[in-house]
Amino acid sequence: MENVVIIGTGCAGLTAAIYTARANLNPLVLTGLMPGGLLTTTSIVENFPGFPEGVDGFELMTRMQKQAEKFGARVKFATVESVKLGQTPFILDVDGDLVEAKTIIIASGAGHKHLGLESEDKLEKKGVTYCATCDGALPMFRNKPLVVVGGGDSACEEALYLTRFGSEVYLIHRRDALRASRIMAERVLGNPKIKPIWDSVVTEVLDVKQDKVTGVRLKNLKSHEERTLDCAGLFVAIGHVPNTQLFKGVIDMDENGYVIPKRGSETNVPGVFVAGDCSDHVYRQAVTAAGLGCAAAIDAERYLASLNS
Ligand code: NAP
Repeated sequence: MENVVIIGTGCAGLTAAIYTARANLNPLVLTGLMPGGLLTTTSIVENFPGFPEGVDGFELMTRMQKQAEKFGARVKFATVESVKLGQTPFILDVDGDLVEAKTIIIASGAGHKHLGLESEDKLEKKGVTYCATCDGALPMFRNKPLVVVGGGDSACEEALYLTRFGSEVYLIHRRDALRASRIMAERVLGNPKIKPIWDSVVTEVLDVKQDKVTGVRLKNLKSHEERTLDCAGLFVAIGHVPNTQLFKGVIDMDENGYVIPKRGSETNVPGVFVAGDCSDHVYRQAVTAAGLGCAAAIDAERYLASLNS
């Protein structure tokens, strides 16, 4: 039986892995479908303490995993299909194998939010993407007009990154002011290749008939005018949805699916702890996720000690 199973290998999961491994709990860490989490899809992380020159997101996560493994964490590329939390030990179905666990740390992170358009779904991977770092360099986007949707730090980061490849980058935002941090907003607004289009939303991605992105239909929310903008790619960066569907109905969560911790990292089920973006819709930073992973590890360790006392 496992002492601790950690679900997720983003900053929260791997920090929890480092701490529980150093506490000799021999944690089993399950990656899910995106080892390293969303940070592996960003380029340079400039705000993680200790890296004055910035650090590549993939490299940061690789180093965290190595650090956890050095202390005995077992990182396994596997997905949790279902969990039974109504009894102890808890039972996890991990790719068809049943795993018993005394404690679980949920660090399953969040995925990309979609616009919710039928044409968006149909053209995903055919010009519609949620990750500029992953897809921006593809030949289909080179020297072509590109569109980014969103007004937060992610959208700014995507737009700046895409200036390397696109002929111009249109930033479509539904309001007339960016939500992004000041430093990112200033970089975007000062970049001659980035052309903001304010107060506007994408109503349709063109062209489903051609089976590739050739443009977007835009609607101005103030004037209600509609128009078509030619582009070869649509990069959607409008926020995230927590990966918590597995725990619905058992673990307390808010209406958007974010797990609501009770005290520290404790959930409503004793022995199940939570950390990172799947429970944090306020800060959502690499460093806060790491801090929450540390807290969950300490809480799990204390819980296990209390079982033996
Ligand atoms: P975010 O801050 O929640 O911003 C989402 C943006 O998308 C907002 O501008 C929002 O518009 C817009 N939006 C949401 N739903 C929409 C819809 N259905 N249609 C059109 N627009 C929509 O998300 P984020 O940019 O992914 O950032 C998440 C967190 O990660 C933040 O805390 C951010 O600071 C952090 N982050 C930091 C960095 C960095 O420091 N380099 C990089 C990436 C992310 P409204 O503004 O009108 O709500």
